[in-house]
Amino acid sequence: YSETGSQWNVAELEDAAHRHLISPAEELAKLGTSGGRTLFTSADGIYITDSRGRRMIDGPAGMWCTQVGYNCKPIADAIAAQALRICYNSPWYSLNGPSAGLARRIAEFAPGDLNHVFFTTGGSSAVDSALRFMQFFNNVLGRPSKKTIICRIDGYHGSTHLTAACSGRAGNRPNFDLEMDNVTFISAPNRYRHPQGGDEAAFLEFLVAEFEERIESLGPQNIGAFLAEPVLASGGVIVPPKGYHRRFLEICRKHDILYISDEVVTGFGRCGEWFASEPAFDIVPDIITFAKGVTSGYVPLGGFVISDAVLGRISGENAKGSAYTNGYTYSGHPVSCAAALANIEVIEQGGLLAHVREVAPYFQEQLRKLGEIPLVGDVRGIGLLGCVECATDPHSQAATDFDKAVAARIDRLCYENGLIVRPIGSMCVLSPALIIKKEEIDTMISILRESIEKVQAEIRAEGRF
Ligand code: PLP
Repeated sequence: YSETGSQWNVAELEDAAHRHLISPAEELAKLGTSGGRTLFTSADGIYITDSRGRRMIDGPAGMWCTQVGYNCKPIADAIAAQALRICYNSPWYSLNGPSAGLARRIAEFAPGDLNHVFFTTGGSSAVDSALRFMQFFNNVLGRPSKKTIICRIDGYHGSTHLTAACSGRAGNRPNFDLEMDNVTFISAPNRYRHPQGGDEAAFLEFLVAEFEERIESLGPQNIGAFLAEPVLASGGVIVPPKGYHRRFLEICRKHDILYISDEVVTGFGRCGEWFASEPAFDIVPDIITFAKGVTSGYVPLGGFVISDAVLGRISGENAKGSAYTNGYTYSGHPVSCAAALANIEVIEQGGLLAHVREVAPYFQEQLRKLGEIPLVGDVRGIGLLGCVECATDPHSQAATDFDKAVAARIDRLCYENGLIVRPIGSMCVLSPALIIKKEEIDTMISILRESIEKVQAEIRAEGRF
């Protein structure tokens, strides 16, 4: 095999991709071209190297997932060992050691009485399974109308039909038949550009009132779940006002609405804790969904962890003969679970949660300094999640097409200068591997600063800013 990890060279592989591969979010007008996608061939730590041999800091850590960094031998060894020991068993009628052990570990560090884990194949299937659990739960409880899911504009929960229907990011919806009677959207808790967003406390009251009004108008007897990321990630690193999750949880409890905290991004250390729900956001939800960081992206895995209180209402004597017949061939896959166990050990042995709690405030502080550049409209983030939003028109209520083009230009310049930035609309998003050091944060921020300032100078020269 060549350095590409296959028997083909780079040019042959690029040609194969153009001819045969459909990627997520494929722009079909560009089918048969690279569509701007880079072929990566190797990676180590926080760095990733493209097929031209250029080594860069991977600012988004893949897609918010390579927590312990690339090329981590203990995880690779655990994967190889488990693949040779027993690569597969059917979870529909048997058990394997890694999934049982991993369930135990996750239950140990999940908050409150969240003590049972259901494994899936990734984040979409985790959220889908949690939502299907809610439907199943209410049917078993004999209240079949209690199924509506309250979600947020700009939320992202996945790519199954149900999770896509619950995702409020406008860009993901065209041509997909996602309107569902049982899904309703409320505002994103994003103060920036929101007409009510000026004062944090007042904005929180606005959001709470909107939530209560929606429950009132639909009828609590018809609402099954509130589905929320602690921090809206793909929707633009939106950190809600202080106290938001606590207030929403209290309202859910009052109306017996399941609170599903989608921690696919925030889980496994991104905010310096195993889960951000508690202590970062001071809530013990009914269900937490996870994926990505659970294996640091080495192999696919997802799942949800659920409270004893909720599970107890439809299990044992209360089960009424029912079986939760949702699951996958690869639920609790032994190789994935072995990778997750090794990943957890690496996080623990490296003291990575404490490390994130130490470097994250520095990251946030340095990122905030970019707010002094006139082109930057907003800077926000928490933990090792951060975002710089470009605004060429400070009076615009929404990001303009030009804002998005400007952000894309900044991202391209960063790439040339050795930093990958995740482009999301008008935003430049960073979520580096948890192992990042302060000096590497400095490098990342200074590349971003130089790129923003250069693009700002260019668009000024063009008379467009
Ligand atoms: N939930 C959240 C919060 C996500 O950010 C994502 C993916 O980015 C998902 C769910 C879906 O996860 P996956 O892409 O692993 O299916």
